[in-house]
Amino acid sequence: MRKSFQYRIYPNRKQEVALEKTLTTCRYTYNNALTERKRNADINRLEKSFDVFPWGYQDWINYYDQVKTPKTEYQEELHSQVYQNALKRVEKSFQNFFKGAGYPRFQGRNRYNSFTYPQAGYSIKDDKLTLSKIGSVKIILHREIQGKIKTCTIKKDVDQWYVSFSCQIDIPIVPIEIKTKIGIDVGLKSLVTFSNGQQIEPPKYLRASEKRLAREQIHLSKKKKGSKNRNNQRIKVARVHRRIKYQRKDFNQKLSTNLVTKYDHVVFEKLQIINMLKNHCLAKSIVDASWSQLINLTIYKAEYAGKIVELVNPNGTSQTCICGHHVPKTLSVRVHNCPSCGLVLDRDHVSAMVIENRSKNSTAGIAGIQARQRTLNREPMKREAPDF
Ligand SMILES: [Zn+2]
Repeated sequence: MRKSFQYRIYPNRKQEVALEKTLTTCRYTYNNALTERKRNADINRLEKSFDVFPWGYQDWINYYDQVKTPKTEYQEELHSQVYQNALKRVEKSFQNFFKGAGYPRFQGRNRYNSFTYPQAGYSIKDDKLTLSKIGSVKIILHREIQGKIKTCTIKKDVDQWYVSFSCQIDIPIVPIEIKTKIGIDVGLKSLVTFSNGQQIEPPKYLRASEKRLAREQIHLSKKKKGSKNRNNQRIKVARVHRRIKYQRKDFNQKLSTNLVTKYDHVVFEKLQIINMLKNHCLAKSIVDASWSQLINLTIYKAEYAGKIVELVNPNGTSQTCICGHHVPKTLSVRVHNCPSCGLVLDRDHVSAMVIENRSKNSTAGIAGIQARQRTLNREPMKREAPDF
């Protein structure tokens, strides 16, 4: 399996300039390749509408065509694989588009924030990460890298730099007997509710940071467009964002470890993030709580431990009783009151129990290999593997 390890790196002034330059050239490479493909698509569309096929078939540009085009002076300065990787990202985003993702977008300065050495061009010795065409950058390895490093990605996060190693780890899965099962409801009011009634609130410092973010964003909206003040404020906002991102990840890390340690079979709802985001009043909470990060981390850790994470159909989990009776309630109704069986309980607690009940009845005798199968057959992930 793949696992990624992220570390902060500390480039000196000169190295930072080189990093920025690489990032910019990669972004231009990406955007230019995208332009070329869009133009190609336009021509094909025209030819189709006029029913003209000069070569008998439509000609689509792919990665191999683009990698053959002569490099610019700036592109010549890049490590060749870093350059190829930028083009491969275009290919990847088109593949994702054909699978149903959005049409590939042009990448702005604040959006395109990483470049990758897919095989070679980097090495680590002591506290130095040597990057081809950049130099030896100081790195703090706060934890050991496991497995074999497959790719090395350099990321810029506002004003800090990170390296992320994607590593191949081959760990034999030890079969375990599945004995304990828990259903998890990820609600809006309290972050997480277990089917045993336990509730976990997001930590206070996270709430505090979120309030601060809201405040800084109001300041930002008041600054004049294009002014230096506005840019400074934008950086301030981005920094608070970053802090929240790490605090949230920390919380999710601890919670997922806890879940996998305590339970053999963890049941979540299958989240429909895209639908949820369309609902504006829910959007903030959904994004904030980053449920999918929690679920992905839990899946990864379960895979290690030979345990099961199951994602069940989310339809109406908050509107159903464990007896099967339909109990409709709006978001403001916090207590579930079933007219059929008389159950009166916190709504999230009931949802968690409904989620647990929806899982396949597989509490006995499931070996680790099957668990592994189950987790491997999960929905394809939209993002890359979570960082540990
Ligand atoms: Zn009932």
